[in-house]
Amino acid sequence: MRLRSELIIFFLIISVVPLSSVVYISYDFSKLAIRESVMSNLLGATDNTGNVINNWMDARKDDIRVISQSRVTLTMQKEYFIEFLDTFEREHKGVYREFYTLDLDGNIIFSNIYRTGNERPETYFIEASKGKMYLSDVYKSNITGAPEIIITNPVRNNGKIIGVFAARISLENLYRIIENIDIGKSGEVFIVNQKGDIIFHENRSLILFNNINNNFAVREVTYEKNGINEYVNYKGENVLGSYYWLPLYRWGLIAEKNIDEAYAGALMLGKVMVEISMLAVIGVVFLALVVSGNITRPVKYLEDGAFGMLRGNFKQIPVTSRNEIGRLTEIFNSTASELLDIRKKLEAKIDVANKDLEKKNKELINANEELKKLDELKSDFLSLVSHELKTPLSSMKISAEYLESDPNIAPDKKEILRIIVRNIDRQTRLINDILDLSKIEAGKTELKLDIISIREIADASHENIKQVALNKNISINIDFPDDLSQVMADRDKLIIVLNNLFENALKFTPEGGSIILSAKENVDGIEVMMKDTGIGIENEKLEKIFDKFYQVDSSSRRKTGGCGLGLSISSGIIRAHGSVIHVESEPGKGCTFSFKLKKG
Ligand code: ADP
Repeated sequence: MRLRSELIIFFLIISVVPLSSVVYISYDFSKLAIRESVMSNLLGATDNTGNVINNWMDARKDDIRVISQSRVTLTMQKEYFIEFLDTFEREHKGVYREFYTLDLDGNIIFSNIYRTGNERPETYFIEASKGKMYLSDVYKSNITGAPEIIITNPVRNNGKIIGVFAARISLENLYRIIENIDIGKSGEVFIVNQKGDIIFHENRSLILFNNINNNFAVREVTYEKNGINEYVNYKGENVLGSYYWLPLYRWGLIAEKNIDEAYAGALMLGKVMVEISMLAVIGVVFLALVVSGNITRPVKYLEDGAFGMLRGNFKQIPVTSRNEIGRLTEIFNSTASELLDIRKKLEAKIDVANKDLEKKNKELINANEELKKLDELKSDFLSLVSHELKTPLSSMKISAEYLESDPNIAPDKKEILRIIVRNIDRQTRLINDILDLSKIEAGKTELKLDIISIREIADASHENIKQVALNKNISINIDFPDDLSQVMADRDKLIIVLNNLFENALKFTPEGGSIILSAKENVDGIEVMMKDTGIGIENEKLEKIFDKFYQVDSSSRRKTGGCGLGLSISSGIIRAHGSVIHVESEPGKGCTFSFKLKKG
């Protein structure tokens, strides 16, 4: 991940996580507080309103009690009675719809609206005539449509019930009282009786129309409980409802507020907090972008500069700050210019050296060409010379042998002729060697590869030198395993190699010594070894014995003959077979020559 992304993520983690936790926690607390305050407000308003209704109703009961127990009611002097009632009417405008008295038969004997009739079967009459104050159920006025109740109280004279006083009371006033409860736009306040009938509602058409005892608050209040709760109301809406039981009248006052509206404050707060958090996050992201940009820009410059340097571009990078990175950039710049300097100097030197090399190379090519020409000349010369030397030598040898074969020739002359023949042989061998070597070196040796038995080659070669070994009393032992595989080699060339190795071993092994020719089969070929018990070769000279005309000791050469070409030829032949001749030796103890051949 890039440094800048890491920094932005880091900023976000260290700011957004704690910020959102704080916002969330405070939102949660505030929501709870708002919820509690909304609840306690509604509950308080309901309680207060309940109390006010109680007081208002008590006042009505007190009025009825006072009127029914007053002298004026007893005497029934109509003018005074009407005046007396008027004072109550005036005091409580529109509350008392009718005052009337009934005799014990239920006949209306007085009504301030001049109504007549008999109400004997009515419960409020029956109950009051038994001596109890009675409050009727709420009913709707036929005339105004407003909810009303009737309160009745016995009228006594000297403790004896002589009639019943009744008042029809409009509950219109309760509308003003319940206005004090804040129920928002969509809430409602209503009063139910103990059966769950709505007996008072803002919407008058609902009064005594609906039984809503399945409503949670109605159930609670009709069980005579007060409280507040969240529930689904009779209209199927989620509401916060507060209920208050009015025990004297067995009414329940219920105030319901739509949940969303009730907790609008909390929702609002949540929205504000989310907005603040979003703003804070945007601010943090912006800050993170700016700060991380400021931090990473110079680092990026450095990175680009370093990459450029890797590609050989030593350009300066801008220093954008005075802090550690700024100082690092300055160091980078001065290093880059130093390196550029060094590079220029080196390039100049390399240029010179290149030119020099080019010149030398040309010289070398020329020298090589010349060498090649010389080499060709040398090879041509060698083959020419060898050929021109061999022809006269063979006629000289034939002549010398012819003379030697004459039986009349004096012994001393015969000896001279033998020496001549020996020297001609030696000379011929030398010329052959030189010819072979020049061919090998010119890469002209063509191998006639065959699958051959190495034992057979060894025997043929052994045959060649057997007599010399006998003369020198040197034992020759050929030690090959019976099941030795055949090899892929040029028979004649391999005989030359074995001859050379045998001749050397015989030359450099004192009388009575031994030579062992052995072979060993490996996975990758057959290893041939020739070991002698001769004078050996010093370690530092071992490498040189394969050089042309090299002889370890020229005095011994004189004694043993040879001209230092045998090993060069042999090693050339073995190289042409794709292998090499190795030698191991310890002076005074003998030598071991070995080489590997491919299996046939
Ligand atoms: P040369 O004609 O002298 O034998 P070679 O090339 O065959 O030439 O050998 C080079 C020299 O290596 C010899 O002159 C001799 O000094 C040394 N050399 C070769 N074979 C042996 C050996 N088996 N023991 C000791 N010295 C050896």
